[in-house]
Amino acid sequence: LMQLYVPLNFLGFTYLTLNQGLIDMEQMFSLLRVNQEVKDTPGALELERHGAPAEVSFEDVHFAYNPDRQILKGVSFTAAPGQKIAIVGPTGSGKSTISRLLFRFYDATEGRVLVDGHDVRDYTQNSLRAAIGVVPQDTVLFNDTIFYNIAYGRPGATVEEIEHAAKLAQVHDFIVSLPQGYKTKVGERGLKLSGGEKQRVAIARTILKNPRILILDEATSALDTHTEQEISAALRDVAHDRTTLVIAHRLSTVTDADEILVLREGLIVERGTHAALLAQNGVYAGMWAAQVELDDASPAIADVAE
Ligand code: ATP
Repeated sequence: LMQLYVPLNFLGFTYLTLNQGLIDMEQMFSLLRVNQEVKDTPGALELERHGAPAEVSFEDVHFAYNPDRQILKGVSFTAAPGQKIAIVGPTGSGKSTISRLLFRFYDATEGRVLVDGHDVRDYTQNSLRAAIGVVPQDTVLFNDTIFYNIAYGRPGATVEEIEHAAKLAQVHDFIVSLPQGYKTKVGERGLKLSGGEKQRVAIARTILKNPRILILDEATSALDTHTEQEISAALRDVAHDRTTLVIAHRLSTVTDADEILVLREGLIVERGTHAALLAQNGVYAGMWAAQVELDDASPAIADVAE
């Protein structure tokens, strides 16, 4: 069951009626049956699910969803165990596609994706997907209690473990402030959570899952400054001691990355630390200058209110 916990936008599927990020179990199962392209090889290896952070490498990876349109045109990078790699670039440049190949929703058409030195195709899908946690842009919540929604990260987790994960994700205080606490029903037939609250539930789920690799797909929608700070703090906790891939929309969240990859039309056009890329005065420096200007021009609502 565990490997079925996947964010929908991450799959690259059409949303059907799911655009509110709310979904029933049945719908989830039928959706996941859609993608049967990827199969285990006989005698596939078991990837270690928990424990020391993994090494992740892309070696000259090419990929196309349809043969007539190349999306990745030779992408190479290595995340050493525990490193944080950020991927930035314009919409449609292939950022999410990279994370889908790592999760093995699709296989590379050329080149290899490696985890701990082995091609992802050599592992069982169950073990690979159990070793990777995804905090998606839009979190899928089941029509069930908050408790259930967090526990989904690790079926069988104890109350203490769930509360601990919720505390690290900075969502525990909010939950206990609700009249029914962890028993509050959420989803379309229950309490509607805000984008930031849903994201923190997803972080709590991922903390509980305790994966060796973390994929953070940053929300495109702007959150107020206070919520964003709380989420950044929660994300720092969950990323600690894991190899992390961040698909970033706001450059402010990637300044501490070990390496930033600037993707454009399926190719890495620049790479380096924030400081090195600024000094290079190229594409990234231009993006940074544009963002700073934007932030100055339109301060977040919370800034105005405070
Ligand atoms: P964004 O910043 O908007 O999330 P991205 O850089 O993550 O964009 P991807 O989601 O990787 O971009 O998509 C890269 C390209 O592949 C886009 O042009 C997109 O239309 C196309 N694409 C994505 N998923 C599919 C799919 N399932 N089938 C066909 N084409 C797809």
